[in-house]
Amino acid sequence: MTDLNQSITAFIGLGSNLASPAMQIKSAHEAIAALPSIRELAFSSLYHSAPMGPQDQPDYINAVMAIETALSPLALLNELQYIEQTHGRIRQGQRWGARTLDLDILIYGEQLIELPDLTIPHSGITERAFVLYPLFEIAPLLKIPGKGKLADLLTDCPLSGLKRLE
Ligand code: ATP
Ligand code: MG
Ligand code: MG
Repeated sequence: MTDLNQSITAFIGLGSNLASPAMQIKSAHEAIAALPSIRELAFSSLYHSAPMGPQDQPDYINAVMAIETALSPLALLNELQYIEQTHGRIRQGQRWGARTLDLDILIYGEQLIELPDLTIPHSGITERAFVLYPLFEIAPLLKIPGKGKLADLLTDCPLSGLKRLE
C-alpha cells in the first residue's frame, strides 16, 4: 500500500451531461474515494451549468473534489480515465461534446506540469465558473499555482448561469 504520509493535496473537477448526470457524479465520487492511495478531503455541492462549446447538448452537472493522494499526477490521470471509461465515456471527435463523465485534474499541489497528455493547473481553470465557484465553496483561501488567489480570479469570472443545487 502506498504511503499517504507522502501525499499531495489535489483537486478534481467532475462533469456529466448524459445518462442521469447527478447519478454519474455520485457514482464517480464514490469510485474516486475508494481508490487506493487517495483520501477524500472535501466534496462540493452539485452545480448546474450551460454547456461550453457545442450548444446542441444537454446542460451539465458539475462538482469538485479535494483529495490527498500519494499517486503521481500521471497515475492519478490514469485512474480517473479508467473511471470515465467504466462510466460509459465514449470519446468522439467533437471537442467538448456530450459525455457521461468527465474527470479533470484541476490542481496537483503546487506543481506546474506541461506534458503532452497533462497540463496542471488545468488549462481552463481561470475561465470556468463551474470550476471556480465550486472550488471557492470547499477551499475559499485557495491559491492556484501560477494563476493567483481563487478569490481574485472569481471577481473576473461571471456566473454564466451557474446554479448551485440544494
Ligand atoms: P477540457 O480539458 O477542456 O475540459 P475535456 O475534459 O472534454 O476538455 P477530454 O476529452 O476529457 O477533454 O480530455 C482530453 C485530454 O486532455 C486527455 O486525453 C488528457 O490527456 C488531457 N489532459 C490534459 N490535462 C489534463 C488534466 N489536467 N486533467 C485531465 N485531462 C487532461
Ligand atoms: Mg473537461
Ligand atoms: Mg477531461
